[in-house]
Order: sequence, then structure tokens, then C-alpha cells
Amino acid sequence: MQPLLVATQNPGKLAELQELLLDMPWDLIMTRKIELDLRVAETAFTFRDNAILKATAYASASGLITLADDSGLEVAVLGGLPGIYTARFGGMGLDDVARYQLLLDRMQAVPWQYRQAQFSCAVAIATPQGQVFTTEGIIEGYIAWGPAGQNGFGYDPIFQLPPYQCSMAELPETLKNQMSHRAQAVRAARDVLLRLAETTIPE
Ligand code: IMP
Repeated sequence: MQPLLVATQNPGKLAELQELLLDMPWDLIMTRKIELDLRVAETAFTFRDNAILKATAYASASGLITLADDSGLEVAVLGGLPGIYTARFGGMGLDDVARYQLLLDRMQAVPWQYRQAQFSCAVAIATPQGQVFTTEGIIEGYIAWGPAGQNGFGYDPIFQLPPYQCSMAELPETLKNQMSHRAQAVRAARDVLLRLAETTIPE
């Protein structure tokens, strides 16, 4: 199996990716395992361009085909914010709970019909030779009135999914992994990964 570097420090994301790519001819490795700790500034203005920045930086530094994702929560009534700033919403000192609590506070007076939101995810796959492939996924929902559920990570407890009548954090992980924004983007990337596996000779 060939190594596929996953440019993330987030174990929650790695676990999701591992499940989504379980049957693929790739051995997923985290940057920590090869002791590569690049600080890639996410300076672009779209999820897609930020994912490309990360994937290309790690691919050229490691010499490995690299998958990176960039994702976030877009709230309609906030004009799409926090969007690309989701991970930094409220400043760097906050943890996941403090971040979603801040969003809930901002949304306190917003009636249900205006609480639409979506999780978006862009995946970029870069080769050390400079090829880049991207895919995207979206899941729509609502910002809940309060947190519920223990599964997942990040803003999952406050993201309500009307078709399931529960929050993303109340869904079993396997179900989240079938339909999440990341699942859609990664599923769309499977063809690229298969093609790359066929054309890349393991070292
Ligand atoms: P990234 O690591 O730059 O992609 O930042 C993503 C931000 O969006 C983090 O703050 C995550 O908590 C949040 N986020 C992304 N995907 C999800 C998800 O599937 N569930 C909950 N929060 C997510």
C-alpha cells in the first residue's frame, strides 16, 4: 500500500477519513507520524483555495501524495460567516464548546426559519510533482437552540439536521460518515485516488 499523507492535526477528521477510505489502496498517515509540522497559513478566501495551500505545501515538503481538507460552518443570517474563519471564530483561545456557545449567543434572537446553515468541505489532493485535484461537499441544516449529543467534534452538537430530527452529534458516527460534507467531498475524490494509485509506483 502506498502512503497518503493527510495534512491534518485533527484526530476527529483523520478518523472520519480512515473510515471513508478504508477499502482504498492507500495507507493514510498523519503529518505527526513523519514528524512534519509545517505551519501553513490559511490565507485564501475559499475552502477550496485553503485546502490547495495545505495539500501543495505538504506534498512538496514530504515528497508524498497529500490530501488536505478545509471546512467550516456557513450561517445564512450571518452572511455565510464564520465560513473560512470557523476554526478561529471568537479568537484562538477558545475551545470547541466556547466557540459554539458564542455562535448560539449571537443567534439567540434569530427565529427558526432564519437559522439555516451549512457545513462545507473542500478536499485537495496534491502530488509532489505539482498536480492538484479538488472536490467539494455540502450538508444543509439549522443552528439549534442549544447543544445536544456527544458524537463527532466541533460544531456538531449545535447543527440540527431536519431529516433526522437530531443534531449531527446525536447521529451515530457511521451515519455521519455516510452523508456529511466531508464524506461527500472525500467520496467524490475516490476516483482521483484510484487513478493515482494505478499510476504511482510505490517507492
Ligand atoms: P479546518 O480544520 O480549518 O477545516 O476547520 C474547520 C472548522 O470547522 C473547525 O472549527 C471545526 O470544528 C469545524 N468543522 C468542520 N467540519 C466539522 C464537522 O464535521 N463537524 C463539526 N464541526 C466541523
